Amino acid sequence: MKPSILIIYTGGTIGMKPDPTTGALVPFDFSGIFEEFPTLQSLNIGIEVFTMDPVIDSSNVSPRNWLDLAAIIRDNYARYDGFVVLHGTDTMSYTASALSFLLENLAKPVVFTGSQIPIGVLRTDGRENLITAVEIAAAREGGRAVVPEVCICFQNKLFRANRTTKHSAEQLNAFRSDNYPILAEVGVSIHYNRPFIRRPAP
Ligand code: ASP
Repeated sequence: MKPSILIIYTGGTIGMKPDPTTGALVPFDFSGIFEEFPTLQSLNIGIEVFTMDPVIDSSNVSPRNWLDLAAIIRDNYARYDGFVVLHGTDTMSYTASALSFLLENLAKPVVFTGSQIPIGVLRTDGRENLITAVEIAAAREGGRAVVPEVCICFQNKLFRANRTTKHSAEQLNAFRSDNYPILAEVGVSIHYNRPFIRRPAP
């Protein structure tokens, strides 16, 4: 059976698209995700999308939003094999860290990602970030998730969420993890750094 993933869109640059008439950035309707990214269909992964209401810039995220997000994952936990959270980059490390402590006994991937360039802009980094995050959230081996923890996938690297810092608003590799090794490196294939990936309690 193909793995099933829930993409939760909370807001941020990754979800913005220029309005064709005004040119102003407006939130992208993620229910049209397959028309925008037909590649997602070829992954052989069941994907559903949930959009938070309202979508917010991550500079406006508060602990209330962390709890709402945790509740959505808790309520849908049994239904999906993994979760991808699309979030603004400014406070992504904070939300993802909070979630790593809120979601106790996690045995499924919760992969945060976002982008520096809006998804509706030609040179966007959001497309690769999104597709890679979905692949990682769906990765299974021997019936178990490969990365059963809260992590951040950005620019071909996978980080433990609660060790990350956003270090650049300009570079596409916006995140780093100074005191913990990266969990995976994405090249032609995805190389998981298995000894450093958290194992769920039995
Ligand atoms: N201000 C945006 C946010 O954090 C920036 C971004 O998404 O990268 O929501």
